[in-house]
Amino acid sequence: MSTERAEEQMPDWSAYRGVLIVVEQRDGEAKPVSWQLLGEGKKLAAKLDVPVKALVIGHGVGHLAREAGYYGADHVYWCDHPELANYRTRPYSRVVLQLIEDAKPEIVLFGATATGRDLAGAIATHLPTGLTADTTELDVEPPPSRLLLASRPAFSEKMMATILCKQYRPQMATARAGVFQSLPRNDSREAAIEEIAFRMEPADIAAEVLDFVRETGRINLEEADIIVAGGRGLGGPEPFAMLRELADTLGGVVGASRAAVDAGWIKHEHQVGQTGQTVRPKLYFAIGISGAVQHTVGMSNSEVVVAINKDAEAPIFQFAHYGIVGDLFKIVPAITEEMKRR
Ligand code: FAD
Repeated sequence: MSTERAEEQMPDWSAYRGVLIVVEQRDGEAKPVSWQLLGEGKKLAAKLDVPVKALVIGHGVGHLAREAGYYGADHVYWCDHPELANYRTRPYSRVVLQLIEDAKPEIVLFGATATGRDLAGAIATHLPTGLTADTTELDVEPPPSRLLLASRPAFSEKMMATILCKQYRPQMATARAGVFQSLPRNDSREAAIEEIAFRMEPADIAAEVLDFVRETGRINLEEADIIVAGGRGLGGPEPFAMLRELADTLGGVVGASRAAVDAGWIKHEHQVGQTGQTVRPKLYFAIGISGAVQHTVGMSNSEVVVAINKDAEAPIFQFAHYGIVGDLFKIVPAITEEMKRR
């Protein structure tokens, strides 16, 4: 079939308009990636001349519906029900599927978190459309094509793959946390809030969640303002105590390169980078980390980067706002001591 003829037979998608962000929350607190996606969604919506909308699901989450407006949503759908208090795939995906059918957004975005991946995947199995996972760049082609250009690293970050969904709507993607920037919160910005009904079905309770047990002591790199990260240059697990002391002094958390994680010096939950977490702190210390692309892809959006490395040629210095060439075992305790004195 010629391209021309294939285009002639393309369905008419004009009923699908608008960008929808599915807001993720836990215990009534939104994940920052949701507001980051609203910021990015607003840019896409402006190019398409459509509104950016948000969907808030949960129980007792009316405040989040308002907050979505503060972070840029023009219109917020709000679904509140006691049975939606905790995330469960089936009832949550039913709410999103129903909204897609009713509101017909042309683009739907989710955070690429454990929950967002589960939800988006479940929804994609019910629709003929595709799902681009783990995107780090989003753009749109202007009308008439209105195509979402969803890009993600491929081949160990050596190239970017841009994935298009030409044949179906909505166009769906999950996006990494920490990559996009949220709009500054503005409490005088108001969205139109529309409550949507939810009726529980017996099949929704295929698995009953009795309780969520929160792991204590688990670190949250994605939301940290200050990260003190260490790499192979530390030479073993013990020097991480020195990094922890600096992190505690500054009110931050400890991160790590994969080399340190693979060596068993620190748990994977601390890993920053391609196969770890993408972070966007205000301050990032890279200590004894060379700056391989698989590491820098996860931290290059940090506001200020301080690199400490004994090798003046280490690639990490290309990303550093402040570079200290020298032995980390002398420099880190000196910084900690100075910070404690202040
Ligand atoms: P090295 O590259 O060995 O660097 C150690 C640095 O410490 C050197 O620059 C050295 O000069 C410095 N140093 C040594 N001693 C001292 C001292 N006393 N004082 C000061 N400096 C000192 N890596 C990640 O980090 N995150 C990922 O998510 C990730 N995912 C990957 C996915 C794939 C598919 C692949 C192939 C690789 C991935 N990697 C990842 C690994 C990555 O390629 C690098 O191997 C890794 O980041 C190197 O870690 P490093 O910088 O700690 O170690």
